[in-house]
Amino acid sequence: MIKSLNTFETLLSYSEENNLPIYKIMEEVESRAFDITVEEIRKKVKHNVDEMKNSIKNGLACREKSQSGLSGGDCAKLREKFKTTPALFGSLYEKISTYSLAVIEENARMGKIVACPTAGSCGIVSSVLVALSEELNLTEEDEINMLITAGAIGHIVSIKLAPAGAVGGCQAECGLASAMAAAACTCARKGTTKQIIHSATLALKNILGLTCDPVLGLVEVPCVKRNVFLATYSITASELAMAGIESKIAPDDVVDALVQTGQLMSPLLKETSQGGLAFTKSADNFKETIKF
Ligand code: SF4
Repeated sequence: MIKSLNTFETLLSYSEENNLPIYKIMEEVESRAFDITVEEIRKKVKHNVDEMKNSIKNGLACREKSQSGLSGGDCAKLREKFKTTPALFGSLYEKISTYSLAVIEENARMGKIVACPTAGSCGIVSSVLVALSEELNLTEEDEINMLITAGAIGHIVSIKLAPAGAVGGCQAECGLASAMAAAACTCARKGTTKQIIHSATLALKNILGLTCDPVLGLVEVPCVKRNVFLATYSITASELAMAGIESKIAPDDVVDALVQTGQLMSPLLKETSQGGLAFTKSADNFKETIKF
């Protein structure tokens, strides 16, 4: 039985030595940590998958703006565009991009979403999981395995760095979400444990340094569009890993680099709205027009 799951190295060696997929190891860890059965864990995860689907459905059906007016309506615009001009990358891309917008716009309207790992990054794992399930005709069991696998990545990274823009910048929120989504994607495609870990690692290492600079402190600009970019980006990480391409920097070292980058980042760029996009003339202009 695995004692603790603190590193990717432990995860990989335990998986290979015992011929266990990541989701089964994570179930073991969670079951012992919270003294609940695997059935109970899977039931809770299924509930979250269902809520992800609901948030996509609700987001797709709504064209309303958020209370600030800074976001909302872009999902509808993108769907209209795809009706006449399909996406260059095909139907999976269309689904991931519209679903991620649907969910993050719902969040900005104070609708119900699954924070995965955070509310500001809620569109990333949700859209990748549901779009892939639809495109690959996955089962309910597959969906649960995907989300637990994504959770294992979030679990290991979060031990060293809290998934919060205020702590590590957006690399720790949307960046981590994209790593989790890449892992879920690679899991759905029956990648090996090594490929799953490397897909997450490739996503993380290429997003290092992403700052958190929300305009007026609202999780809308740049957060809404950032969810679309990082959801689709996670597929690239999975493609590379499925081809056997690995990160030259070891996965646990990439996590250490993420932590160090977060520490070196100026507080002005960590959710204080005092730097970056939040400190531009355009952002300042919104102060005049937005009523709270
Ligand atoms: S910019 Fe900041 S508030 Fe917005 S999603 Fe990223 S971490 Fe969250």
